[in-house]
Amino acid sequence: MDKILVGIDRDGTINRDVGYLGAKQNWKDELFIYPDAIEGIKLLTENPDVKVVVATNQAGIAHGFLSEEKVKEVNASIDAYLKEKGVYVAGWYYSPFVSTAYAIENGLSVTNPWVKENDMRKPCTGMLKQAAHDLSMILDDIKVYFIGDKDVDVLTGINAGGAGILVHRAHNQKHYELVKRLAEKNTRKIFIVKNVRKAAKIILSHTV
Ligand SMILES: [Mg+2]
Repeated sequence: MDKILVGIDRDGTINRDVGYLGAKQNWKDELFIYPDAIEGIKLLTENPDVKVVVATNQAGIAHGFLSEEKVKEVNASIDAYLKEKGVYVAGWYYSPFVSTAYAIENGLSVTNPWVKENDMRKPCTGMLKQAAHDLSMILDDIKVYFIGDKDVDVLTGINAGGAGILVHRAHNQKHYELVKRLAEKNTRKIFIVKNVRKAAKIILSHTV
């Protein structure tokens, strides 16, 4: 069986997206982790050929809404919660960087230290490449999937030479419409499901 690397988005996929989680002092009160995400990641990680890593865009750092340290603290807190449930992901990655185009569009100074043209921010594949490197995997030799609640998540999987799975929840109708249109032209590389457990089932059904 091929080795499989699964990237999964954080906000809106594993936990409820409250907008820049960690920016508020009482962020722990806002933390809600979807039970289906726990079940889905667990199903995946129980398979010895599958590695799951979390990859999250954190533009809030460039906006000055929260520090890089706070992002790490939030990630560690979610990781601890997952471990309590017996779920062990193989790595946590975040992109604090945004492009110049993003900066202009969002009213950030282009001299902001987090404005950088690199391939870290999804839909680019820098975080997956780093994860593959850290796990001694070669992207070209393995199957790659990316699970998330936005079009950029789906595109990250495709850009890495793999597939993208959109989790269609109550909050992301706009991204569902976008991805549904993309999926019409790319039925073998784009999947739309209701939750992470179903995303896991699709990935595992492809391994037999
Ligand atoms: Mg998200």
